Amino acid sequence: MKVHNFSPGPAMMPPEVMQEVQQELLDFQGSGMSIMEVSHRSAIFQGVIDQAMLDLRTLMEIPENYEVLFVQGGASTQFAMVPLNLMQKGRVDFLDTGTWSDRAIQEAQKYGETRIVASSKDKAYTYVPEVEEGKLDPDADYFHITTNNTIFGTRLNQIPGLKTVPLVADMSSNILAERYRVEDFGLIYAGAQKNIGPAGLTIVIIRKDLIGKANPRCPKMLDYQTHAQKGSLYNTPPSFAIYLAGKVFQWMLKEGGVAAAEQRNQEKADSLYEFLDASSFYTSNIQPPHRSLMNVCFKTPDPEIDVRLVSFAESKGCMFLKGHRSVGGLRASLYNAMDIHGVGRLLEVLVEFEKQQ
Ligand SMILES: *Cc1c(COP(=O)(O)O)cnc(C)c1O
Repeated sequence: MKVHNFSPGPAMMPPEVMQEVQQELLDFQGSGMSIMEVSHRSAIFQGVIDQAMLDLRTLMEIPENYEVLFVQGGASTQFAMVPLNLMQKGRVDFLDTGTWSDRAIQEAQKYGETRIVASSKDKAYTYVPEVEEGKLDPDADYFHITTNNTIFGTRLNQIPGLKTVPLVADMSSNILAERYRVEDFGLIYAGAQKNIGPAGLTIVIIRKDLIGKANPRCPKMLDYQTHAQKGSLYNTPPSFAIYLAGKVFQWMLKEGGVAAAEQRNQEKADSLYEFLDASSFYTSNIQPPHRSLMNVCFKTPDPEIDVRLVSFAESKGCMFLKGHRSVGGLRASLYNAMDIHGVGRLLEVLVEFEKQQ
């Protein structure tokens, strides 16, 4: 039976990439060694990391005045790393759109004053609140947003902020899945395990003028400058994860880049939302303009039926549809590696399940 993996993260990887990795797993480019076995100081690995950084720059059209860093610790480490590096005046604005924004706020609070400019907590994070420019602090060190809310299934459909205040974005669940102008941001960060590769690698894209101003107490490993000065090779990097991410970047370039991926993602999400909206059995309570292309949250009329649906779907090869434990219901994650046929299969399974009720 063909398995379709709807996991929110770590998530499925492109099958072509996995096959290539399998082929060269024991012998990378005739070296007689696996890429995971070679020194991160070797020419062989330097080639891999250089190409991966270059390809990410091409994919996102990253301007010269931005640094690309490959670090560790997941997006959760960035919740602390950002304030440790970017807080000078000690005031930061946040848009609160869910659990991950909240975690970022909790962490930043340890280093200065945090202000929530707008929040969708009042309606269980089922929408993204409007940000009135007048409410933003022109003297803030930065304004923090989460572009896609993985747990609640919402996304920002426009980028808020003031041109004069660096915009910081947690893009963990939609980096490379939708087009963004890197110039609109001071800093972008993302854990790799949703749209890019396996867990263990974190991507940071930072405007160069924001580097080198870290809090004096900032641990060396959490200072962006440490990694920028050493080409992300200050210490041992997650070399195998970088190699895999590089393969995914190559795959994306071959498939038409971010614009083509966004179009495919829109089609996949549309087909699922259209089905849910037409159904009297399944519902999505996310406000349509804010619906995520990546994480489609929905439910049946009864939490007990939701539970049965998760096992039914797994018996049909559609894996990991359980909603986040804090939200319940169901969630289908449709990252770049999921193709339209996977969504088609999911629709068949949903129809079949409903008939049996
Ligand atoms: C998954 C996720 C995180 C947490 O990432 P870790 O790499 O596990 O720390 C943070 N923010 C968003 C938006 C996410 O989707």
